[in-house]
Amino acid sequence: MATLYYDKNADLSLIRGKRVAIIGYGSQGHAHALNLADNGVRVKVGLPPSSRSIAKAKERGLEVAPVAEASAWADVIMVLVPDTAQPAVYEREIAPHLAPGKTLMFAHGFNIRYGTILPRVDVDVSMVAPKGPGHRVRETFQDGSGVPALIAVHQDASGSARQLALSYAAAIGAGRAGMLATTFAEETETDLFGEQAVLCGGVSALVKAGFETLTAAGYQPEVAYFECLHELKLIVDLMYRGGLSYMRYSVSDTAEHGDYVSGPRVIDARVKDAMRSVLAEIQNGTFARRWIDENHQGRPWFEAERAKETRHPIEEVGVKLRAMMPFLDPVTVKPGE
Ligand code: NAD
Ligand code: MG
Repeated sequence: MATLYYDKNADLSLIRGKRVAIIGYGSQGHAHALNLADNGVRVKVGLPPSSRSIAKAKERGLEVAPVAEASAWADVIMVLVPDTAQPAVYEREIAPHLAPGKTLMFAHGFNIRYGTILPRVDVDVSMVAPKGPGHRVRETFQDGSGVPALIAVHQDASGSARQLALSYAAAIGAGRAGMLATTFAEETETDLFGEQAVLCGGVSALVKAGFETLTAAGYQPEVAYFECLHELKLIVDLMYRGGLSYMRYSVSDTAEHGDYVSGPRVIDARVKDAMRSVLAEIQNGTFARRWIDENHQGRPWFEAERAKETRHPIEEVGVKLRAMMPFLDPVTVKPGE
């Protein structure tokens, strides 16, 4: 059984006794900084002087400083800039200000797991990885609930790295939902696998394949859109509340029968083989190495793929249909935004 911690296992006074630098003020950064500050923790947000986020953070009453200055001031440095930007920011602006007794924290294990950040051995290195987007971390905190988080310790020079990580996680609200003990390797590998095989890659490919099959057979794209994309949320909402059983309980017996008969034909042994290859490339570092190289080259393949995907027919029909359903609060994202 996994080890789960809750508020009762965390001592908030530990993090309240520290100066915490939050490096970056994006999805996770704003949520961590505001939740910690609301909990009485001394916080300074570290941002480059050119950052447009400086004004936003100051508006919310937060102190802002250049990354190096915030890192020098802090006892705990939480790195919340994009994973691909972290090694350069770390080398130039964080590492020179690390000293024994300080703690370096991450919300994802990528750079530690793949060795693109190698912290000196006399500092604590830990992880608090919320299992949800940053805006949910803030919203749930404000309504009295929380987003669960994974907790891990990579280096424990002080002997108290885990207790401090739990205190930090509880201070951003995770102790209300559950703080699950893991390792940097497990968090990184399962996170990458989940987003590639199931959550982002798998689901997008399944939705597109269904849409393409129906439209190629001559059915109307609008009907295919509702069937393969729009309804997915309704099905996932049922799974979220009561697992596969509750979804199957709620759909018709015909749908449930079709699920058992055709699900395993579509997601078959070949798909499982492909999933195992995806996992192997995550474990042996192939995926990480390619993504790091792609970033070094200025992301030519990634940007081309992004632009191509926005021109897929399901995206074109989707924009029109969602515009007719303002209650969905539709948003349109253009490439590069
Ligand atoms: P983000 O892209 O939303 O925000 C990044 C922030 O860093 C922005 O404020 C940006 O201005 C700043 N920034 C960019 N380059 C910088 C630089 N060179 N120096 C200083 N600041 C810089 O990032 P995010 O999604 O919040 O991700 C932060 C970390 O949290 C990552 O490790 C990510 O894996 C992890 N994480 C994210 C989520 C999520 O849902 N977004 C969930 C769990 C963990
Ligand atoms: Mg994830």
